[in-house]
Amino acid sequence: MSQTAERATQSPRIVIAGGGLGGLSLALALKQSLGDDLSVDMCDPGLNRDPHGDTRAFAIAPAARRMLEALGVWQVVAGRAQPILDMIITDSRLNDPVRPVFLTFDESVGDGEALAHMVTAGDLTAALVTACEEAGVGLKAVGVDGFSVTSAHVDVQIAGGDVLPASLLVAADGGRSRLREQAGIGWISWPYRQSGIVATIVHERDHEGRAIEHFLPSGPFAILPLKPEIGEDGAAIHRSSIVWSERTENVAGLLASDSADLLAELERRFGLQLGRIAFETAPHAYPLSFGIARSFVSDRLALLGDAAHVIHPIAGQGLNLGLHDAAALAEAVVDGMRLGLDPGSAEILDAYESARRTDTTTMGFVTDGLNRLFSNDILPVRLARDLGLGLVDRLPALKRFFIREAAGLTGREPPRLLKGEAL
Ligand SMILES: Cc1cc2nc3c(=O)[nH]c(=O)nc-3n(C[C@H](O)[C@H](O)[C@H](O)COP(=O)(O)OP(=O)(O)OC[C@H]3O[C@@H](n4cnc5c(N)ncnc54)[C@H](O)[C@@H]3O)c2cc1C
Repeated sequence: MSQTAERATQSPRIVIAGGGLGGLSLALALKQSLGDDLSVDMCDPGLNRDPHGDTRAFAIAPAARRMLEALGVWQVVAGRAQPILDMIITDSRLNDPVRPVFLTFDESVGDGEALAHMVTAGDLTAALVTACEEAGVGLKAVGVDGFSVTSAHVDVQIAGGDVLPASLLVAADGGRSRLREQAGIGWISWPYRQSGIVATIVHERDHEGRAIEHFLPSGPFAILPLKPEIGEDGAAIHRSSIVWSERTENVAGLLASDSADLLAELERRFGLQLGRIAFETAPHAYPLSFGIARSFVSDRLALLGDAAHVIHPIAGQGLNLGLHDAAALAEAVVDGMRLGLDPGSAEILDAYESARRTDTTTMGFVTDGLNRLFSNDILPVRLARDLGLGLVDRLPALKRFFIREAAGLTGREPPRLLKGEAL
């Protein structure tokens, strides 16, 4: 049979390049909803790696949690997820003797729901990969080298020389997306001259589910509570994840320093409220930047997650945006295919673009503005921002609005998956 005749008799195929949390969630949502009516192939050389090698942890907002629940994945990780029950924000210099608290969030977003849940990248990736396998996603531990588009399909070239003909290629290949570049889609970006140092810290006392964000002149320093583990002696091991934003020129020196010096630097930021601290995992630094694609789609191609937008981690929203993309793209494809549309058609891609680009750009600029406002030591700016934080703290309705905005519960009608509904 010719390749064209073969294509006509098979169910349509979507290839997803990039098996990060965004790509995996999309693959699962599509396959669970469309079953044999759609082939879904996921290509990523990283699928061979042990997911628990990634020691990052993410704050998952309530809307994203509902989506993972609808996909049956939350139920697998829930036992190891730590709810954030309370959050405090301080604004001070490193040498200030006290860190006055300017803003506290101790309310739930409604219905007793936590502000967010902390989950490790390893736990979430492992659960998503298993669910994708069970749903029948074709998992291929190879990279995508390139693609060529005709009006009727896209030929996806995978490493080793094979070609996968598909209706749609989804580039979920991260912030430095090669496929976005190959599609000629512009990328508006700037570096922050900050890196985010990430590590897991063990500490003497219970964090009681409290997240702390210190705004320091070199960048925000966040302490995010993780689920305790039980040691061999039966006692709880208290743990938190840190995201320590630091000027990039200082990072190499810090990480190369003697471990006692590094711990001393960490203690200056972490404070003493949780008792003695130690590193559980080696710290890793991620250079921070802002980036947004000029378009989220082109012919038979959709960008998803960091391939479409990279934002500052100051509000812990990057992955949440990527999961929102996955929910919106899955909904556009599923609804379009039920109407008989080709999954790579312009109608479906336009629906995805208009659902996501404006919201994502807004969140990108808000986080950029927050980082600029807080990562400086100019006295009038400090006074104005502290006054603003103090005001927000005294206005419960405004505070609730901010909580619900970060939780993904405001704005335009969210995709069904983010409301916990099936597609
Ligand atoms: C310090 C820090 C802290 C953060 N904290 C939070 C937080 O608390 N909450 C939150 O929501 N977000 C957070 N984020 C953001 C979050 O990490 C990212 O937004 C998210 O991981 C992006 O997921 P992704 O699937 O889009 O891309 P990635 O995780 O970058 O995955 C891309 C995948 O594509 C693969 N790939 C690359 N090239 C190819 C190719 N050619 N073919 C096939 N595969 C390819 C790679 O192997 C990789 O697996 C943080 C970010 C940083 C830097």
